Amino acid sequence: MDDVRTWQVPGRVNLVGEHLDYNGGPSVPFAIDRFLTVKVRRRDDDAVNVWSTLPDGTRERATFGIGVAPDDGTVSADDWAAYPAGAVWALGTVGPLPGVDLVLESTLPLGSGLSSSAALTVGVVSALADVAGLDVAPLQVARLAQRAENDFVGAPTGLMDQLAVTFGRAGEAVVTDPLSDDAPARVPFDLAAADLALLVIATGVDHSHRSAPAAQGSAPLPGGGYGERRAECERAAAELGLDHLAKAGLDALVRLEDPVLRRRTQHVFTETARVKAALRTLGEADFEQLGTILTASHVSLRDDFEVSCAELDVAVEAAVEGGALGARMTGGGFGGSAIALVPQTKARAVRELVEQRYDALGWKAPEVFAVRPAAGAHRTA
Ligand code: ADP
Ligand code: MG
Repeated sequence: MDDVRTWQVPGRVNLVGEHLDYNGGPSVPFAIDRFLTVKVRRRDDDAVNVWSTLPDGTRERATFGIGVAPDDGTVSADDWAAYPAGAVWALGTVGPLPGVDLVLESTLPLGSGLSSSAALTVGVVSALADVAGLDVAPLQVARLAQRAENDFVGAPTGLMDQLAVTFGRAGEAVVTDPLSDDAPARVPFDLAAADLALLVIATGVDHSHRSAPAAQGSAPLPGGGYGERRAECERAAAELGLDHLAKAGLDALVRLEDPVLRRRTQHVFTETARVKAALRTLGEADFEQLGTILTASHVSLRDDFEVSCAELDVAVEAAVEGGALGARMTGGGFGGSAIALVPQTKARAVRELVEQRYDALGWKAPEVFAVRPAAGAHRTA
């Protein structure tokens, strides 16, 4: 039908700069060539119907009104429909919206740390703004999508995912600065030209179903591991008199008494430095050095930030042993995916070694696949 518009919205992989966005620090994510397709058609009434086909073929359906709002009793925050409903609600603050039929189809695994949630919210905001005739700048699209997750779903995510999914470009990575009012910069990240592959190792462990291992002597906080780390970073920043922990200097490590807050700050401080170093390596196409930085990031997330898990650690160790230039967990942690930067000639050996290790441990086989930097959200038809 000619009144159907189609949007394609990628997932993202964060190359480096983990758990920095909500601390006011930089990250270097890129949009990937796995994506969500959103078809949208205007309706004559105020209903929103959403049909979603997931990568495993499962089909979901949700219906709510165009005036949906958090806590109005129509869409529960625990339901997947909270993501599209949150996007509709957030965009509704910009201008009047028509009812719509939305058909979603995804090749992005859910809950794998590839940001299927940002793809969904950015996709619904973009497609709906398009049919409503609202002129919404890409930076605002990203912020509205973040608002959907923060205030409707109740997931305290930063802005990195939404920026990557919105501003990604083939052969480039996005440099996000959450404190900037400008659209993010981009850096060259051309894997093919360097005969490299970027492998995603999806552990199959759903990050949202695991909470952080409690620090010794303290009970875990509600809201899962991600919310817990965020709260710890806020406490550390408050003790240091900073509005954002990424602004901490070396003195912070001496000034903080609580060893847990010190470790968290150590990660944020060193990861911020690693992002700067990584940007230099990308500018010079020095991928050996980039690999070293990626592996160092993993060690910091494992030992100082304590957001890794056995499945991620084994994936990283096996990848490096198999010939990767570097590897690390990516995304929030506690499951989800690891990434490995691998010479193309070694991609197969790395995949086989990771699979072998999982098999020897009696774990379900991970899904291993190559991704490349791809275009951000855009209309295709
Ligand atoms: P990630 O963003 O890393 O994939 P999240 O936990 O942030 O993981 O988001 C995953 C959740 O987003 C899913 O559990 C589901 O509720 C929702 N979601 C994402 N993509 C889709 C989709 N295509 N259809 C329905 N729900 C989706
Ligand atoms: Mg997400």
